[in-house]
Amino acid sequence: MTNAETVNLLDFDAEGLVAYCGGLGEKPFRAKQLQRWIHQRGATDFEAMTDLAKSLRSKLATRAEISAPAIVSDNISTDGTRKWLVDVGNSNAVETVYIPEETRGTLCISSQAGCAVNCRFCSTGKQGFNRNLSTAEIIGQLWMAEFALRQTRAELPAPASERVITNVVMMGMGEPLLNYDAVLPALRLMLDDNAYGLSRRRVTVSTSGVVPMMDRLGADLPVALAVSLHASNDALRDNLVPLNKKYPLHELMAACQRYLRVAPRDFITFEYCMLDGVNDSDAHARELVALTRDVPCKFNLIPFNPFPESGLLRSKPDRIKHFAQVLMDAGLITTVRKTRGDDIDAACGQLAGAVQDRTRLAQRSRDALSSRVIEVHPV
Ligand code: SAH
Ligand code: SF4
Repeated sequence: MTNAETVNLLDFDAEGLVAYCGGLGEKPFRAKQLQRWIHQRGATDFEAMTDLAKSLRSKLATRAEISAPAIVSDNISTDGTRKWLVDVGNSNAVETVYIPEETRGTLCISSQAGCAVNCRFCSTGKQGFNRNLSTAEIIGQLWMAEFALRQTRAELPAPASERVITNVVMMGMGEPLLNYDAVLPALRLMLDDNAYGLSRRRVTVSTSGVVPMMDRLGADLPVALAVSLHASNDALRDNLVPLNKKYPLHELMAACQRYLRVAPRDFITFEYCMLDGVNDSDAHARELVALTRDVPCKFNLIPFNPFPESGLLRSKPDRIKHFAQVLMDAGLITTVRKTRGDDIDAACGQLAGAVQDRTRLAQRSRDALSSRVIEVHPV
């Protein structure tokens, strides 16, 4: 149980931990040691941190803790996709999904409980905004997943030695750039060699287009960027992604160009949710080609995952194929995100929310996982 006086060390990036240790009269290298214990060894017990002075260990034991959000459910599908539902208090839960592939393992992380952007095709948005996650709750998802996966591997007869999480995508619940102050230290930890040591190219922030915060991310910590486009003109995008009224397409495209000057990759990934009869005609595809002419980019087409209240349908496979072909004929690299099964609201970021009935939700989560698989294609 968290004591109000107790500091959760998962809330600190390197700088924060140095400052905290400084307050205890400790030198910066102690913070580095402590950070390795936390993020590289998954320690939660200060007594086990044998290379720290006993006096520091006892100080920490009385005023600090290493506390990741509690797990409500943990489900593994037959192909290894693993989904955790994570408790973030006040009957809110968010989800974290691990997607193993041949050459990489991707963790999809949530940044908010609910989302205020309220895109028409997104069940997270439909749930409204509950609250921002703290840095501890964001990095806690990676911490929890990393050590849970290591544990599982250790139990296998012949565990592989390579890393299990090679990529992180902020594509779970919430708009990461509307929770910037908590997301930034979490991103720093993902890249930190004394924590997870991931390369900037393998950490992707996905945004609905919060233009000023794209500039800040570019200045503070340029990682790979995915932009949820979903429409080829302002009238359509105003309707699908209401944030477009604030930051219309010409501003968004200009922000993408500015970001590319500092980005670790030389393209932006545009995500495009394929909605039957709404945004999926050849004319839309041609309009997209013109819209993105000055932005080096790749397209990731996401077949819509329907949910009952949306009133929207997934584009037919043939339509998606033709749409992709128009983009590819114009020289744009285009992938279609694979979904198997036709279940509802189980895609990354589509499930949890205000959890009033955990048992029912955990069951839904199990049902969803057993019948379909989510495949995220990070850039
Ligand atoms: N808020 C951020 C990141 C989370 S959403 C963003 O919007 O980019 C991650 C991705 O899932 C986004 O591209 C979003 O458009 C997509 N998505 C949301 N609802 C979906 C649905 N019902 N079917 C398919 N993709 C969906
Ligand atoms: Fe929020 Fe992203 Fe869902 Fe839009 S798609 S409502 S920005 S989580």
